[in-house]
Parts: sequence; C-alpha cells; structure tokens
Amino acid sequence: MRHSAAHVMAEAVQSLFPQAKFGIGPAIENGFYYDFDLPRSLTPEDLTLIGNKMTEIIDDNSPFATKELSKEAARRLFIDQPYKLELVDELPDTVVTTYTQGSFTDLCRGPHVASTGDIGAFKLTHIAGAYWRGDEKRPMLQRIYGVAFDSQAELEDYLVQQAEAAKRDHRRLGKELDLFSIHEEIGPGLICWHPKGALIRQIIEDFWKEEHIKQGYDIVYTPHIAKIDLWKTSGHWDFYRDYLYSPMDVEGKQYILKPMNCLGHIMIYKSQLRSYRDLPLRYAELGTVYRYERAGVLYGLARVRGFTQDDAHIFCRSDQIEAEVAGVVRLSQFMMTTFGFNDYEVLLSTRPEKYAGTIQMWEQATGSLKRVLDELQTPYKEDPGQGVFYGPKIDIKLKDAIGHGWQGPTIQVDFNLPQRFHVCYIGSDGLEYTVTMIHRTVLGSMERFVACLIEHYSGAFPVWLAPVQAMIIPIADRHSDYAHRIRQELQQEKIRAQVDDRSERMNMKIREGQLAKIPYMLIVGDKEAASSSVSIRLRNGEDVGLQSLSEAKARIGTAIEAKA
Ligand SMILES: [Zn+2]
Ligand SMILES: [Zn+2]
Repeated sequence: MRHSAAHVMAEAVQSLFPQAKFGIGPAIENGFYYDFDLPRSLTPEDLTLIGNKMTEIIDDNSPFATKELSKEAARRLFIDQPYKLELVDELPDTVVTTYTQGSFTDLCRGPHVASTGDIGAFKLTHIAGAYWRGDEKRPMLQRIYGVAFDSQAELEDYLVQQAEAAKRDHRRLGKELDLFSIHEEIGPGLICWHPKGALIRQIIEDFWKEEHIKQGYDIVYTPHIAKIDLWKTSGHWDFYRDYLYSPMDVEGKQYILKPMNCLGHIMIYKSQLRSYRDLPLRYAELGTVYRYERAGVLYGLARVRGFTQDDAHIFCRSDQIEAEVAGVVRLSQFMMTTFGFNDYEVLLSTRPEKYAGTIQMWEQATGSLKRVLDELQTPYKEDPGQGVFYGPKIDIKLKDAIGHGWQGPTIQVDFNLPQRFHVCYIGSDGLEYTVTMIHRTVLGSMERFVACLIEHYSGAFPVWLAPVQAMIIPIADRHSDYAHRIRQELQQEKIRAQVDDRSERMNMKIREGQLAKIPYMLIVGDKEAASSSVSIRLRNGEDVGLQSLSEAKARIGTAIEAKA
C-alpha cells in the first residue's frame, strides 16, 4: 500500500512537472518516498498541490496493471528516463515488469494494491536532497517523503506521536537547555559538552564509578592512540577497517586512534603473570574511542565519530563465565532502573557471517549466555547473525517514554582475543590456560546515553541529574540578599542552586525557570524573608506554597537521595 502510494505520488508529480525524471520510490517504515529530478526546487506549496493531486488519483480508483516486457522494449519505453534506463540495464533478468496506473508507468517488480482506491490515509511530510544511488558524484535529486496508514485515525495517531518526538528531540533540547554543541570548525560527529551537559555527564560518571567499585571492578585508563600492529593482531584491522581512521606516522611507526578499549586492558592484564586465584579481574574504563561513520548517518549525540564508552573487560576462567555474565546482567538492570528505564528488550545476537574462532567456541559461548538469561528468568529474543566478529552478545534495548528504542547495555563473551594475544593464567595444576574475556558496557556510550535521557525525560531530568536543581527568585531587589543567603545554605547541602536577580517580573522568571525545566523555583519576598521560608513552585506548574527553609532543604534532599 505504501509503495503504491509512492507510484501515485510519481503520477501526481508527472502531471505537475511533465519534464520530471524519475529515480526510485520504495516503501519505508511508516511510509514511502520517491526521488525526482525536476526543473526547479520544490516548495512546501508544491507538496500541497502534489498531495491534492494524489487524493484525486486515489478517488479515481484506477487499477494497477502489470506487464512483462523484454529489456529491449523497456529501453524504448523509458527512452526519456535516464535513471530508469540505468536500472533496466542493471537488471539481471531478460524480462522486466512494469506497473501502470492512470497515465503513469513505472519499472517495478511489484506487488501493488489492486487499485489506487486501496491506498489508505496519507500525508506528504517533507522534501530532502538525495544523491542518485547515494553517490555524491551523481546528480542530486529531490526526495519527497510521505507517510501512509490504513485509516485516518492511525495516521493522526502517528502524526501526534511524531510531534511529541520532535518536542523531545535531543538535538533541539540540547541547544535550548545549553547542554552540548557540534561545530563545523571542529568537525561533524564530534561533541563539545557545555557546562550543564558536562555536569549531567559527570554525575552519571561518578555514579557509574562508585557502583563499579562496589561490584569489584578496578578503574583503569589507557591511551587514545596505539600502534597499528596491535589492531592487526586483534583482527580489528581486518574486520573493522571501514570504521577505523587512517593511520598516522610517528617516528616511522604507524599509529591509529583507538576504536575500542579492549587491547589496552589486555596489556594491563599481561603486565604480570596471573594465577587462577587472581581471577576474575575486572577492568573498567570510561574510554573514549573514535570510529568513522559516514557524515550522512551522524545524528546529534546518538551517532557520532568520537564517544566515551562506559567500558569494562572481565578476565575470568571458563568456570566463572556464567557467574560473571549474570553479575553484568544484574548490574545492567540496576543501572537501567536507576535511570528510570523500566521497559527494555533483551536480545541474544548469534554468529555473524564474518567471524573469528571456531564454530565450537561460538556454540559454547552462546550456550553460556542462554543459560544465564534462563537462570535469571530474563525473557529474550534471538537476533541471528548479529554478534560481533569475536563472539556472541547480549544486547539490551531500552524503550524511552514514547516507546522509541535505544541501544543500551551490551555483554560479549570472547574466546578469540585472548588466543590472539596469548592472554593466560596458571591453573591450580601449574599448567597454562587461556583466559576468557567478557566485553561489556552498561550504558553504551556517554553520548548516546545522555541523548536517550534527554528524550526519555523530555529535558526535565530527575532532580539528582538536573544541572540546576533550584532557582531562587527574589520578588524585589530588596529580597536579593536573602535569596543569596539561601543559595549559600543550599550549596552547603550540595544542592545546586542559582539566584535569578535580574530585574524582570517574577512571573516571567518563573516561566523561564519552567522552560529551563528546573525542578524547584523558590520564590522569596517579605513574608518569606521574615519567616526564614520560601514559596515553592515546581516545573510542572504545581504551586507547593510556603515552606520553611529546612522543610524545603529536606524536600529537595530527599528527591536527590531517591534519584527521583
Ligand atoms: Zn512499484
Ligand atoms: Zn572490548
């Protein structure tokens, strides 16, 4: 149905622009698009005209008719359509098919709905530039996107949901709340964390470190660049070449930016002879890594070129794997709950097409992961072929407040790197054994996780994460001293408070505080100053009223403590 809507859109465009050249028009999630080469740039008014024309075509209820042609006949048919000709030439079959509705014929394999009247409710959403075949050396076409659903009600639900998602978009809120920025001068996909964003990140990092130390992890740091030979030994150079930055020459030796933290941790492990009694060893690092992603796929904080993984590697004996994996799953669940994600999906990714090691190793590792999930009674789905090249993994996908999925914790069992780097321990029998490595992150990366938090909370962070927890608003200038005294008192209690003593009206300051999603606005005037109290307003508009200063401190302190 969605693909049929794309054909109808092409017919509408053809009737408005008889000179149009047609690219491709596939169905996509929730809708469709079509790429056009047109004599001029489309305007939003054009979308309305095209949409109206589509409605007419749908009302005509003209049938989709299919026909088989020889390639030769297809070439004659599309003689004025260079993009279609290119597609005809590349088709492997000797016979091609076309679909015709009304006055428009397209090269297409189908299938289609019976007639245009079967197309449900649609809306054209936006126009974007798209290179023919995604190749920046080929012409730039104009792509029109649309959405289509069986019923008007489903379409409207979808549009409401999209509007809500746009309000929560972390790229927009990141700017409005002054959290981070990306600069063309620095380069795409590289993040500058502003004071408020950096503060949120630091709170998360401090919490993360504390919890890891409690769970028996050791914090380590490793360098950002390393000799290329290390990455050749690991297999990254072979398996991940497309994601690695080009080597740099240092004193005649080649170095690359690290795409992963694993190898540094291996080197720390190997700095001593380890015995079976030393295991497990758990090395944790907030490790910044760099991976190449095409400019076109970069997306705010969610898809970047440099990011900090909350990484750790567990080195253990094979009899310890399941207990260790179980520990990581529990830690991940604890982290998710703490940050307010109660809805998540667990996926078990199995052996991909390109893999290292033996099938037997893969089966053993996959079996361990399954047993752990079964024992923890954690429901999961299998994701065939989605493991990384060195081992199977458990992926936890978070759902945010409006049901969008985010990549969260990942746990990977690896028998491969320890072999490649000869990472061993001495067993109780005095013999040498290869260690098992578990790679894991519980948040993913700081960048993506903060993006996810911004959208989940729509910027209204829980009090413990809010960069400014309380904004003190003096009603008149004469209350300014009292306001600053309160700020100091709150700071003594580690409550992040600021005074808004601009000479603006109180109501405007309250409104701005709410827009900045500050949890508490503490309003102070004559009455409050005389009674050592404050009047509390919440960011949702709720008026709590007059509270003594100690009540207010306790209230905010409790919320921080509860991580609420
Ligand atoms: Zn088609
Ligand atoms: Zn790793």
